[in-house]
Amino acid sequence: MAASGNIPYGKQFIDDDDIGVVVEVLRSEYLTTGPKVLEFEEAVAGFCGVKHAVAVSNGTAALHCAMYAAGVGPGDEVIVPPMTFVATANAVVFQGAVPVFADVDSGTLLIDPSKVEEKINEKTRAIVAVDYAGHPCDYDSLREIARKYNLLLIADACHSLGARYRGKPVGTLADMTIFSFHPVKHITTGEGGMVVTDDDRFADRLKKFRNHGISSDHHQRSRESTWIYEMTDLGFNYRITDLQCGLGLSQLKKLPFFLEKRRELARHYKEVLCRVEGIRVLEVKSHVEHAYHLFVILVDTENVSRESLFRSLRSRGVGVNVHYIPVHLHPFYRNRFGTAEGLCPVAEEAYEKILSLPIFPAMQRDQVDEVVQHLLAEIGVLK
Ligand SMILES: *Cc1c(COP(=O)(O)O)cnc(C)c1O
Repeated sequence: MAASGNIPYGKQFIDDDDIGVVVEVLRSEYLTTGPKVLEFEEAVAGFCGVKHAVAVSNGTAALHCAMYAAGVGPGDEVIVPPMTFVATANAVVFQGAVPVFADVDSGTLLIDPSKVEEKINEKTRAIVAVDYAGHPCDYDSLREIARKYNLLLIADACHSLGARYRGKPVGTLADMTIFSFHPVKHITTGEGGMVVTDDDRFADRLKKFRNHGISSDHHQRSRESTWIYEMTDLGFNYRITDLQCGLGLSQLKKLPFFLEKRRELARHYKEVLCRVEGIRVLEVKSHVEHAYHLFVILVDTENVSRESLFRSLRSRGVGVNVHYIPVHLHPFYRNRFGTAEGLCPVAEEAYEKILSLPIFPAMQRDQVDEVVQHLLAEIGVLK
């Protein structure tokens, strides 16, 4: 074990302001669906420069709401990348549709627009772009394809809150954009998620789906002094609480600082890693501002396998991780949809080499040095 203790791969940053806000909400009239929900939605919409934001209980629920709002249903296909968390594809399945996996680009591990176009047929309804690690996808190409084939473009931006593409903020690049506020993400509400959109109709459908498919909320009924409500569609209870949104508001104030810290740590990783033989970092396009949810390296050396590097770094107290097992290789997808090895060779090959190194706002520069020293000790070669 390393004497200097453990370094997790990700960790929330909570200060006294965060704690104060949550306590304040606890003493207020509303614990759930009160003023903080709307305030948080407006704050995130303002941050992203979009018209609507709909907050829900987690990022997976946000993906499900977006699939519903997009009108995805049985008989439809939705194109997704394999290099993502399972929830991206699961949300398609929740709606009875089929996720179709389009391979990623080998330099960035982002969905490859040319592979997307190959998968389009008359059943295709939407494309989900995942901003893997915090790098925005090739939105110019994806939007062009979506326009050409009349498809919706949905961004799973659970890694990229605060990132920019050609100067435009994530949130404005797709028809709907999804965020997660899980503790390892850029800002946290414990559990939480959001969909942002400029489209009024999508916003209405998202709000309905998070509240049982009922077309009005309790505030509206109280204002109109009526008990009558109509359930027009089958929805869920995907509501988020005022406690969580109070925390989200306080976290959002620190987001510029969180982003700066992540970018600074990534810069430092790159400076020191370029001296280590057999380690590659992912490509970053010059027209993006990366949000660095993850710092992913590719282990490409004869000296040590990714497996043994993973094990030895863990035993040295370094919280490395692997993001992700390609989704189409999970037993559920193999069994339900007949997916197998060979479907997305670029993602499958990358999966053998990827390793996520620790990165989080409270991490120190010398902890980056420490991680790299452990790596060097295992690989043992300088350039
Ligand atoms: C975290 C994450 C999700 C799910 O978000 P939860 O809030 O954990 O439900 C979905 N997609 C991606 C890419 C994620 O990283």
